[in-house]
Amino acid sequence: VTRAQTPRLRAGTVARRTAEARTCIYCLRPRPVSSFNREHVLLKALGRFRGSLVIRSACRQCNQYFGDSVDRIFARGSLEAVLRFEIGLKPAEEITDLISSRVAFTFPSGSYRGLWLEPISDNGRIVLRPLAQAGFATRSGGWLYITAHALDRLTALPAEADVAGLKRVLAPTAEGYDQVLALLRRLGVNFTSHGPLPNPEGWGEVEPEIKAEVDLITRQCVAKMAFNYMACTLGAGFAFREDFNDVRSFARHATGPSYEIVTESQTPILADDERSRRQTYGHLIVIQWDNVTGELVSLFSPFNEMTYRIVLCRHFSGIWRPISVGHHYDLGAMTVGRLFGSSLKYAR
Ligand SMILES: [Zn+2]
Repeated sequence: VTRAQTPRLRAGTVARRTAEARTCIYCLRPRPVSSFNREHVLLKALGRFRGSLVIRSACRQCNQYFGDSVDRIFARGSLEAVLRFEIGLKPAEEITDLISSRVAFTFPSGSYRGLWLEPISDNGRIVLRPLAQAGFATRSGGWLYITAHALDRLTALPAEADVAGLKRVLAPTAEGYDQVLALLRRLGVNFTSHGPLPNPEGWGEVEPEIKAEVDLITRQCVAKMAFNYMACTLGAGFAFREDFNDVRSFARHATGPSYEIVTESQTPILADDERSRRQTYGHLIVIQWDNVTGELVSLFSPFNEMTYRIVLCRHFSGIWRPISVGHHYDLGAMTVGRLFGSSLKYAR
């Protein structure tokens, strides 16, 4: 009697444990179901959509790690962070949330080309104004602009600045102006103003140049969203495969293999899009086989601007099957819809 009962009890215990535990797709630890929360595939900072894709297969600890580190920096210090303001996902008053060391704005043309600008909020609009800085005519005929912040860190001016030639000082405030003069004096440069500066050609009409950091943090965050997307569309069971350990540990620990997991390009995802003409400013994300390299890749283009190519797996060990999934996050209707294979262009 005792013998007969014991195995049944054991079997019952095992079965209950299996039902209550779930394995996290990132840390691969089995944890109680209560340790998993509902997580959006794409950062909520990229918009709140009806029918948004979510996963329940990443544990709280892993989600907490992403939220406290890469997500915050991506949301505030990337090209996409700037686009959030351009599209109106974030109010102009919050423009100071941008991490200025990761995103820079410069004037694009003429003698003010390279002039450093800062975005400020002005009655619900974002306007750009020059930072406190000095400009030097260069020996090659252009101008070199250096912010007060950068001047403060210099021990000598760069060789290309013609110290004896024309100079400009610009600042949004009188204090800023005096600060630049003091910094120039410290570097042995005397500056005398010869009256007001000419207006930049096309000021207020031309688009500024945006330089945004695409670094390990950006790539890590992008890889996480692509991996979330894979777990959501192809299933957590598929995401557990060892084939995906490289992208998994890159997203979770920033430890990478010798090859690049995330690369970026200007190639659009949609077949009918051109580099400079896009059909949507919504987010596009797809997973497909790269029929040249044999890799399983995700292409992800937030705001249909820059396209990130994420290698999910280099050499798939399972049985090959056709995989082609894609979604469009429509920023006009704030809905999420499927993309179909025929509308996709192969982007590398
Ligand atoms: Zn986890």
